[in-house]
Parts: sequence; structure tokens; C-alpha cells
Amino acid sequence: TLAPELKDTGPEKLLAPVLSAFWDEDRSWTLDVYKRHEGYEGLRKALAMSPDDVIAYVKESGLRGRGGAGFPTGMKWQFIPQGDGKPHYLVVNADESEPGTCKDIPLLFANPHSLIEGIAIACYAIRSSHAFIYLRGEVVPVLRRLHEAVREAYAAGLLGENALGSGLDLELTVHAGAGAYICGEETALLDSLEGRRGQPRLRPPFPAVAGLYACPTVVNNVESIASVPTIMNRGKEWFRSMGSEKSPGFTLYSLSGHVARPGQYEAPMGITLRQLLDMSGGMRPGHRLKFWTPGGSSTPMFTDEHLDVPLDYEGVGAAGSMLGTKALQCFDETTCVVRAVTRWTEFYAHESCGKCTPCREGTYWLVQLMRDIEAGKGRMSDLDKLNDIADNINGKAFCALGDGAASPIFSSLKYFREEYEQHITGRGCPFDPARSTAWA
Ligand code: NAD
Repeated sequence: TLAPELKDTGPEKLLAPVLSAFWDEDRSWTLDVYKRHEGYEGLRKALAMSPDDVIAYVKESGLRGRGGAGFPTGMKWQFIPQGDGKPHYLVVNADESEPGTCKDIPLLFANPHSLIEGIAIACYAIRSSHAFIYLRGEVVPVLRRLHEAVREAYAAGLLGENALGSGLDLELTVHAGAGAYICGEETALLDSLEGRRGQPRLRPPFPAVAGLYACPTVVNNVESIASVPTIMNRGKEWFRSMGSEKSPGFTLYSLSGHVARPGQYEAPMGITLRQLLDMSGGMRPGHRLKFWTPGGSSTPMFTDEHLDVPLDYEGVGAAGSMLGTKALQCFDETTCVVRAVTRWTEFYAHESCGKCTPCREGTYWLVQLMRDIEAGKGRMSDLDKLNDIADNINGKAFCALGDGAASPIFSSLKYFREEYEQHITGRGCPFDPARSTAWA
């Protein structure tokens, strides 16, 4: 959250703390504190409506999925068939692991009840009596806190049989994954939750039709679900008063890298990186922005020419990238772009699940070429080869992991081809000659 000394200055007027409003408060994660901040009021209001009306209300609010793709949340809920006689499930994707993405974990740590309340509302709407939270297993402190919050909610009658006296029975299971990036892909997550090796399934059918145990399932991101209670409580008009028509509301932006004050900044959709840097103290002193990602490493990178791009799905899309998870990783002029892309490429090759050939083989070959170029052993023809391999992964892999691996290759070659060429002609990294293993 914003540093105290910045709280009384100008540009922070843009801040709209909702999910993060009381993160700094003592024991912010407890039910008591949550209730002092409108906690479970949204659920009360939802229970006074019919389930279909709740779905329509969330749809009309314009809330879009915060996991990266921006799919309309209410529409996803509406896909769940009614009267089909099958159980319906809600699965919350808390397997946050995209490089640079770090909003759901702090949200769960500081304010887990916003998620639990959102889950209760969503389950009521889609007529589900069992929800799951699939959490990254490595974040043990968050796992403990989540278990504690769920225990509190059961004890207070907010979960369990006849939750809040509504006639709604609601079980909530917290499941810890084992640390595979692919398990953040929604269908791999479902396989993993069912006890199998996490690998993506072919879509369609989408989980809304055949998801967990082949039953209709809504898979939503943590921030999407945690945003619902305030929308129900304060109203869809209030939510729509922020952001743009197609991307309304508030959201968490995660600022990281060579910035003066990295952290979570909650603000309306559609503000710009320039505004975010203004309110957060800018780049580290004496340095300037070189390149950045709008939403984690899988979204094509931007440069300092894109500082005024509105950070919403339309604005970022029109400028040639994707909003993704709003993970703004900022790199200054001391960073070697070839080195950064090599590290990301190594990540995708390591995390490729191996199910499909374009991703399994393609990411391997991307790493070989990137390592060679970075070490000063590349050739000019390698640049076309990189493009060609990325092109054979992009849109041809089984799931979005492959597209994510191709994206930094394409965008870095687009904006920084000269820097690649310098590595080749200079037979080493111009930023760090010691790292080069130039050969004659
Ligand atoms: P997608 O656009 O294919 O789907 C988005 C959601 O909409 C899914 O839940 C999907 O089931 C649903 N959907 C789409 N079309 C549908 C239809 N016709 N009927 C029913 N449901 C439908 O995107 P994706 O492959 O699920 O995810 C890609 C995104 O994930 C990227 O934008 C990336 O930024 C993000 N991502 C996030 C993380 C993280 O750590 N949070 C990690 C990697 C990638």
C-alpha cells in the first residue's frame, strides 16, 4: 500500500483502496476486523435476491476476470446450466505464479474473508454447495491464515449447513498445490484437484460445461471473487463509476522491479503507468525506464513510449499487448533485455508440462538460442530462428503457456533487435562482459 508520507500528496487521489483498504490494520485478516469494514454485508444483500438476480447484477456491474484474460465474471456464472441434476462447483484459482504477478497472495494474507464472502455469494448464485480454493502450496503462511479464516467462518455460521440461515449448505475446501506453474491453467488445475498429474485438458468443453468431476464448474481468480462483496454492498453503479465502460471498477496493480516503491497499488482500471509511477515515487533515483510488462512476463513488453497507455483491456490491447494480471515489472537502462528474456524463457521451458510438442520442444530450443546469444555465441540468423520457433509455438500449443513463452521473444525482438545484434557482433553482453564466454 501507499507509503504514509505519500498519502497526503496529490496524485494518490487516483487510489481507490477497497480490497486493500485496511491491510495495514492490526489483525486485518480476522473476522472481527473484516466485519468492521462492511464484512459480510454484501452476502446479506445477495441472499435477499434470487440467485439469477445476483448473476444478472454481477454481469451488469461489468466485473471482468482478474486472472489475466478479463472474461466477464457474470457471464461465466450464467453459463452454468440450471436444473441439470448435477452438482455445480466453484473453484478459486489461487495458484498465482506468473513471473511478476503477486496480488492474490498478499490479498489472501491480509484480507482472506473478502474471498470467503465472495465465494459464498458466487455459490449461492450458481447453486453450488461445494467450493474449493486451489492455493500455491509454497506459500505456507498464507495457507495457515486461509485455514484459520475458513475455520472462523464455519464457527460464525457463515459457511456449513444452512449458512447465515439462508437454507444454503456450503462446504469450502482449501487445497494446496505442489508448485507447478501449469496448475494455474484452469483445466490442469482441475486435473490436479482430482488427484491426477496436472496437465491441461482440451477446451471446449470449457469448465462451465464439464469441469471438476465432469460437472459444471466456475473457475475464477481470487481477486475476481474477492471484488464481488463490495459490488453487492455498494452497488453496481458505484463500481461502474470507476474505470471505463468496457473495463469498469477498481483493481490491484503490482508494481515491481527498479522502482522507488514497489508494492500493491489499488486504483481504477484504465490509469496509466505514468500515473502509477507518479504516485509511487517513480523509478529508482537517477535511472530511467527502459522496458516493462503490463501483466507479467507472458504479456508482450512495452517501452518508455507506452507510459500513457490506459491500463485496461482495450487500451493495452490497442497498443499491442495484453493487460494480463496487471503485474507491472519495470526495468531501467541497466538491464540487459536479452538476459531478462533468457531468464523468462528458462522459466517457461522448465514449467512446460510436456504434453504438447510445440511447447515442450519449442521452449527447449528457445532457451538454447537465447543462452547462446546472451553468451556472445549467437549468429545473426539466430534472430530469425527465434522468431520462427516462437511462431511455431504461438497459437499452436495446447494451452496459453506456449503463447506466454513466445510473447517476450516477439516483443523484445520488435523493440530491442539492436541489442540482440550488439550481443552477436560484440560477441558478448554489452551490459556485463564478465558474463560472456566469447569464442573466436
Ligand atoms: P481464456 O481467454 O482462454 O479463458 C478465460 C476464462 O474464460 C476461462 O475461465 C475460460 O474457461 C472462460 N471462457 C472463455 N471462453 C469461454 C466460453 N466460450 N465458454 C465458457 N467459458 C469460456 O484464457 P486462459 O487460457 O484461461 O488464461 C490465459 C490468461 O491467464 C492470460 O491472460 C494470462 O495473463 C493469465 N495468466 C495468469 C497467471 C497468474 O499467475 N495469475 C499465470 C499465467 C497466465
